[in-house]
Amino acid sequence: MWLDLSRIIETPGASVPFETELDAALLASDAIESFPVPPTARGQVVNTAGLLDLHATIRGRMRCRCDRCGTEFERELEQIVDQALAADLPEETDSDVFPVTDNGIDVSELLESCFLLERELKILCRPDCRGLCPRCGKNLNDGPCGCQPKRDPRFAVLEQLLDR
Ligand SMILES: [Zn+2]
Ligand SMILES: [Zn+2]
Repeated sequence: MWLDLSRIIETPGASVPFETELDAALLASDAIESFPVPPTARGQVVNTAGLLDLHATIRGRMRCRCDRCGTEFERELEQIVDQALAADLPEETDSDVFPVTDNGIDVSELLESCFLLERELKILCRPDCRGLCPRCGKNLNDGPCGCQPKRDPRFAVLEQLLDR
């Protein structure tokens, strides 16, 4: 969505609100399979003492696949984006400032790139996910499997000594 900033570029204190839907297909990945509630962003661009700042919150609901156990689950998406914008940026710049051209920005495109830069590459169904047993493939979150851990015979001797 194109957001016209011509009204606020020269006016400190002025702001432009926006609300836009983001391209779910673009934001999906191995970890995030789909968005049962499409990702939308709401926010505003504010001229703060001559500098343009974009603040937005991206919301939606994601269908994810756990990186450790492969279970599918749904999770709320809420990501806050704070991005500085500037008109008349020099061509060769490696700053984090996003350039404003033709007195505006493509706000959906900007937020989609912010999401892709900051997204988690590995998502777990829960922080202490136990994963799958490497021998039988059972999901260890459902309880232990029948596989006995291989024991080193040297430790068995040590345990016998400690038992005494
Ligand atoms: Zn898991
Ligand atoms: Zn097992």
